[in-house]
Amino acid sequence: MLFTDLKLSEPLLKAITDQGYTTPSPVQAQAIPFILEGRDMLAGAQTGTGKTAGFTLPMLEILTRKPFNSKAPRHIRVLILTPTRELAAQVGESVKTYGKYLPYKSAVVFGGVGIQPQITTLRNGVDILIATPGRLLDHMSQGTVDLRHVEILILDEADRMLDMGFVKDIRRVISILPQKRQNLLFSATYSDEIKTLCESILRNPAIVEVARRNTSSELVTQKVILVDCAKKSALFGHLVKENKWEQVLVFTRTKHQANKLSDYLQKIGVSAAAIHGNKSQAARTKALSDFKSGSVKILVATDIAARGLDIDQLPHVVNLELPNIAEDYVHRIGRTGRAGNEGEAISLVCVDEFDYLKGIEKLINRKLDREIIAGFEPDPSIMAMPIQQGRGGGGGRGNSSRPQSAKPQGQKRDGGSHRSEGRSNESRREDNRRGR
Ligand code: AMP
Repeated sequence: MLFTDLKLSEPLLKAITDQGYTTPSPVQAQAIPFILEGRDMLAGAQTGTGKTAGFTLPMLEILTRKPFNSKAPRHIRVLILTPTRELAAQVGESVKTYGKYLPYKSAVVFGGVGIQPQITTLRNGVDILIATPGRLLDHMSQGTVDLRHVEILILDEADRMLDMGFVKDIRRVISILPQKRQNLLFSATYSDEIKTLCESILRNPAIVEVARRNTSSELVTQKVILVDCAKKSALFGHLVKENKWEQVLVFTRTKHQANKLSDYLQKIGVSAAAIHGNKSQAARTKALSDFKSGSVKILVATDIAARGLDIDQLPHVVNLELPNIAEDYVHRIGRTGRAGNEGEAISLVCVDEFDYLKGIEKLINRKLDREIIAGFEPDPSIMAMPIQQGRGGGGGRGNSSRPQSAKPQGQKRDGGSHRSEGRSNESRREDNRRGR
């Protein structure tokens, strides 16, 4: 199948050709015809599958069906909700890219940046609004956004929005939208919560499912290196230098650990930047572009911050710390080995994380090879300690060998103080801002 078979009009086909694409990806080939028919849709697709163009192209096509009058006031006809600022910005870029030969205006609104310019943009009129839920609610409560003319609602990465605690916000937004509208929901996973949301929003949806992104792709070599918690940063620095790695995305569970590793790497002369929910938007954008351009070799990220980042086909993904949610492991390693390129996913695992490792191996249905690196052999006398007590993966409070029961606390988002970001800061910060 070619894009020209998809009943898209000339301005869109031209923009697609400009991008150098000729063949729709599976999610595009399946989703575009349903969306053009006006159907609601539930699409199981992750970042990297081409899902953004999968909804952007038909959405733009639908807009062209009504005559466009440049003199008439513009109304928001399409609302796209995304969990993170980065994803909102990326979707905004796609809308611009594919809509470049069309007369529609789009705007992206998210927290962490001044609200006033957004108010001005909205007042001047936009046709397509891409927003994170928290900032959109800010605009709603200030009366600076008019959603009474929305024809299409798109929830991108709906599962992640629920993970981040946005369900009430989403429902509040939906409650003020016109009843008659088309709804498209994209989600990488299909939990009970997503099911409930779908049942309450979608009407007779078309269901599109594309293969999970390389869950156990043969192209990704996965292995575990056993090491003491306190030696993880040093081991990682050693691996970077030994193997002359030029571009590595490293995951940590906590923002604290992301900062700590990034600081350590810079100290030993390896260029690194951290990206997480406490970083300003400007700092995140800079870290990402430095990483993409190669001026920063190592990008250290938490799961939430990394979600939706348009970086893929990386040669190496390293888990400095295993995620406490087994599914996040799959998301993390999906950053490497894409589109026919080989990749390597390495997890540095200490005794505290053995239960997490077990959970991951159960999920991916395979046992990962274990390795030990000379000079970084784990000390067998060190006993496991619950992760929440904060020994941490890269040094934390040192090499405590206090005997403990080995159980890290449950594989849930709502763990203790050192839990992964989950709902926490990203959305809470949005909440705080909303109060202002
Ligand atoms: P997404 O899953 O939307 O984040 O898209 C992942 C990447 O695939 C982006 O860099 C897109 O520009 C690219 N892409 C989207 N559609 C196609 C296509 N039909 N052919 C090749 N690349 C594509």
